[in-house]
Amino acid sequence: MSEKQYFAGIDIGGTNIKFGIFDETAKVIYRSHRPTESNKGATPLIHKLTNIAEQLLLHASEEELEIKQLGVGSPGAVDINSGQVISVCPNIKDWKGIAIGAHLKKHLNIPVYVDNDANAMALAEQKFGAAAGFNSAVCLTIGTGIGGALIMNGSVYRGSNFSAGELGHVSINPDGEKCNCGNRGCLELYCSSKAITKSAKKLLSKHMTEDFEEILKGEPENLTIKKIFLAFDKGDTVAREVIEEAAYYLAVGIAGVVNLINPQAVIIGGGVADGSLKFVELVEKDLRKIAFDSAVEKLIVKKAILGNDAGFIGAGLLGLHIS
Ligand SMILES: [Zn+2]
Repeated sequence: MSEKQYFAGIDIGGTNIKFGIFDETAKVIYRSHRPTESNKGATPLIHKLTNIAEQLLLHASEEELEIKQLGVGSPGAVDINSGQVISVCPNIKDWKGIAIGAHLKKHLNIPVYVDNDANAMALAEQKFGAAAGFNSAVCLTIGTGIGGALIMNGSVYRGSNFSAGELGHVSINPDGEKCNCGNRGCLELYCSSKAITKSAKKLLSKHMTEDFEEILKGEPENLTIKKIFLAFDKGDTVAREVIEEAAYYLAVGIAGVVNLINPQAVIIGGGVADGSLKFVELVEKDLRKIAFDSAVEKLIVKKAILGNDAGFIGAGLLGLHIS
């Protein structure tokens, strides 16, 4: 009888680092999270990452689980051969150039793999989630920022320099606000949880609605994306306006990719997609109106199903599927 295999994964999100241990059927044995605190910069973050990796391996040894490998999903473009971040990361200062793979390998005695966080999420959804069975798909994760990944010919397509799928930084308005990536009017500035919260705050400062009055209990500074979705599901007008607007802009961005590569499926995950069942429906409705008719005729639009676990599960699987 063969020994059961276990995998460890770490997903560096804009707000939280999610991590866990799972088995070969993607059954999660252990999961936890810690705040990213990306504002503190790259050095504390790489220390935290090392600490989390050691915590995972310690937990595994205490539970007598043998970990085959550890993977990390990071924002930005990642050279999967060296495990180094090779692009700017608008949400983490000074992250470009950080050799995550080399750093962790120095401290850990197991194989370490690193990839872009959205690529990791797409891999998990393709192996065990909503993208299973599709030969081509666009996978998006809408949270503090927007991560995008492409599945082409049954595997993650990384592009000529590991930068494919960066839909969050495609500009939908060249005269728009400046993004941390240096570009203007990036999609991320219109649809991320940060963007939605900012628009809602602006509207509520002019006119506080009854639903938000009740939800925020007189503390408008405590507005979060979860509270906006709570108000949205109650039918609040401000919440509806900002969510519908975000869904529309997201559809505009996705339509460009759908017209370009004509995928079988679009998979949408992340905190914003998880906020309400209706969000993905709104995006799909707009997308079907905006994109080229034959490109959406057979297109399937689905919500991601692995939720917060997708990033670390995909990261943990990396070594098996990197070609
Ligand atoms: Zn940008």
